[in-house]
Amino acid sequence: MDGTILIYTDLDGTLLDDAYSFRGAEEALAAIRRRGIPLIPCSSKTRAEVERLRLRLGLEDPFIVENGAACFLPDGWRGIAADEGFRDGAYRVIRLGADSVRIRRFLAARGRDFGVRGFGDATAAEIARRAGLSLEEAELARRREFSEVFWFEGEGRPAELAAAAAREGLEITRGGRFHHLIGRGADKGAAVRRLTALLGRHLPGPLLTIGLGDGANDLPLLAAVDRAVLLPRADGSFEPCAVPGIRHARSRGGRGWNEAVLALLAELERPGGPSP
Ligand SMILES: [Mg+2]
Repeated sequence: MDGTILIYTDLDGTLLDDAYSFRGAEEALAAIRRRGIPLIPCSSKTRAEVERLRLRLGLEDPFIVENGAACFLPDGWRGIAADEGFRDGAYRVIRLGADSVRIRRFLAARGRDFGVRGFGDATAAEIARRAGLSLEEAELARRREFSEVFWFEGEGRPAELAAAAAREGLEITRGGRFHHLIGRGADKGAAVRRLTALLGRHLPGPLLTIGLGDGANDLPLLAAVDRAVLLPRADGSFEPCAVPGIRHARSRGGRGWNEAVLALLAELERPGGPSP
């Protein structure tokens, strides 16, 4: 097809399997690399975690962190000189969420009332144990800039927490393993739309976007792209999803991701195949 394909992907359970490995996805990753298709991670992970994964994957493309709270555009990427957002190190950063200092302040003042504990209250060792991460990975997961990850101790009081958070301009989303407190209006879908609009001003059009995800927090991402793929959750079932034309991958993690991406690329490249 003419124009530019962009692939937005969730990481845990989607590109990565439950052991945080992308084994099984190699063929599609190579096909994407050969075609020069940007692969844009869109994750609940932090900048530090996504940067580490980009190194492992050999990616230099933009990325979205902390459930859509911020988009990172590397300096000089595809010659784009963007003036949106602010400069931070080697990136332009477009922030959609609140900053984590404000969120931490709210949790420090009110968290205990609702039976909540956040990553900021926990040691790296506790996070490592709860999330099944190494100690080093847990350190990276703790470096939150735009949101906070938390869990309820026992029953907790989710409804009361949601109401108190809303009064502070904050929202709660559910990821695969934890809850996230994030600025109102920031989600993976809002971030995908914002970044696609920015890239669309610079890359050869038309753009065609592909999105892949497995969790409730991925539904806004899947609704924001032209071709959406839902992967099964850990128990093999699918998150209920009303996105029109949604495709269902056959397996979770890299293998399902691989198969779905190769099928989509083949379809898009068929002569007379669909255009955006
Ligand atoms: Mg996931």
